[in-house]
Amino acid sequence: MRPVSDHKVLYQAIASCTKCNLAQLRVKAVLPEGNSRSGIMMIAQSPGEVENRTGRMFVGPSGKLFDELLDAAGVSRNDFYLTNLIKCMLPKSRRPSRTQWEACTPWLEEEIRIISPRVVVPLGFQALKFLLIRAGMPRPPRKEYRFLFGKFIQTNDYLVYPLRHPTALLFNPEKRKVMTGNYSKLKQIVGGSVSNSRDLYL
Ligand code: SF4
Repeated sequence: MRPVSDHKVLYQAIASCTKCNLAQLRVKAVLPEGNSRSGIMMIAQSPGEVENRTGRMFVGPSGKLFDELLDAAGVSRNDFYLTNLIKCMLPKSRRPSRTQWEACTPWLEEEIRIISPRVVVPLGFQALKFLLIRAGMPRPPRKEYRFLFGKFIQTNDYLVYPLRHPTALLFNPEKRKVMTGNYSKLKQIVGGSVSNSRDLYL
């Protein structure tokens, strides 16, 4: 584990970053939260409007749903290191442009280097896409990413456990049952009973 001072330097750099045009929309920098020593990293896409105003991760409607899913799984936010793929708010939660992606993902690379996670949990399509590219793994067509949620993917560096972003429940409440089932495996991940390729589903 790297010294905590590495985090501080990194967070200061992110908070003052102007590498892409999203800096113009930033009210408050949304820095990573949670437990940097848990070995489990969760990656969401980007801050929403409430997160941008408050500078906190997972507040507002998505935060409430996130907490409900964690509660049902018997885990808490402090069991994870929580971060975003893109550190500043995307207007109307649009997909990041290639320029924004290339400007911002080096921050996430640096976080992965510092945290050295044993398990990485991407929340949603964009974070999963980042991890597949990073691992040099084949990427399915866009419509088939949904089949990867709730499955384990072993990479050379860590286990990946993709989940739908909690916001999915705002638009598709009928997905609650399957999402609750997928999130429930977080309990095993936190307990350390799912951490290597013996548990591989793909
Ligand atoms: S989105 Fe990322 S690269 Fe762009 S200004 Fe914010 S921190 Fe910097």
